[in-house]
Amino acid sequence: MLQSIVGMELTDIQQALGSTEPGFRARQIYEAVYRKRVADVGAISNLPKGLRDRLRSDLPLGLPEIERRYDSTDGTRRYLLRLGDGKTVETVWMPEGERSTICISSQVGCPVDCKFCLTALMGLERHLTAGEIAGQVLRVAADNSLTERVNIVMMGQGEPLLNLANVIKATRLLTDPEGMAISPRRITLSTSGIIPKIDELAREAVRPKLAISLNASNEEQRRELMPITRKYHLAELMEACRRYPLRPWEKLTFEYVLLKDVNDTDGDARRVVKLLANLNAKVNLIALNPGPGIPFSTPLPERVESFQGIVRRAVPCFIRRPRGLDVYAACGQLKRMETGLVQVG
Ligand code: SAH
Ligand code: SF4
Repeated sequence: MLQSIVGMELTDIQQALGSTEPGFRARQIYEAVYRKRVADVGAISNLPKGLRDRLRSDLPLGLPEIERRYDSTDGTRRYLLRLGDGKTVETVWMPEGERSTICISSQVGCPVDCKFCLTALMGLERHLTAGEIAGQVLRVAADNSLTERVNIVMMGQGEPLLNLANVIKATRLLTDPEGMAISPRRITLSTSGIIPKIDELAREAVRPKLAISLNASNEEQRRELMPITRKYHLAELMEACRRYPLRPWEKLTFEYVLLKDVNDTDGDARRVVKLLANLNAKVNLIALNPGPGIPFSTPLPERVESFQGIVRRAVPCFIRRPRGLDVYAACGQLKRMETGLVQVG
């Protein structure tokens, strides 16, 4: 496949240009792509025409293209983005007053077979490259002319820790002060609990905040809901959380999808509190977002509040409001669903 600029760090661009161009050209291109967020190499006006032509034919930008956009009544937009090889992946933009959140994917589909998640039904199609991960942010920012600061959550399709090298390279691109300049405090990576990779992530100099999809209050229940638990046991996952080196400003986030009559009792809530003892943690509760083929239902709001009431006595605990439910943009719903279609272009 043709090389493309999005995904390249400064040194990669220097190398691709070769020694025939003066050294500062690579920096001009890097800043135009990541800081000024040009949509086309032809728009990098401080480059000589000859170089722009050369880039157009040999080194295109390679941003993912918008195949479809689904607009929710609550302002959320779900994007189906087309990648260089024709595969598609989903990204979600959630505006909220002064700031907005972009939910990005790390793989096409997902190999982790969680029983409540629509993405699981796709299986894994492939990993995304660093450029395809960071490119989702550039594409969504361009489509919405974003000027405000954004939060990034790696909570779209895929298990980010099973594609760690690309996720880390994408994080470097997203956070570089000379480029996209998003603070690592504003980026959160969510994992189903790939223990050795949590330890690996801990050793990275530039890394997002960590969120763990807990989703169960004991080993047996978690095995049923998240078969990955057979390989990475809950007790060992909690050990990995205890040794994870939090930065001074950081808390470990635990996500918990509430499934009616399965993991949503007051007893479950008390067990969650025990699991999280002595951790600098916070909990996000998500009432199940339903979907075709998902054999669970959503608990009533009173049940969710009762669960929250118990957990909150021990650790901060929030109820995550679903976004974009009407267009299948909410957590666990990303599976190229056709609905509420807005054709773009
Ligand atoms: N693969 C990663 C990140 C993507 S999933 C992970 O599992 O953490 C992002 C979040 O959505 C996870 O916390 C997951 O538990 C949750 N989720 C999955 N399916 C859901 C559903 N149907 N309703 C609500 N949340 C769901
Ligand atoms: Fe994959 Fe996360 Fe869905 Fe589990 S919840 S199948 S890890 S995307």
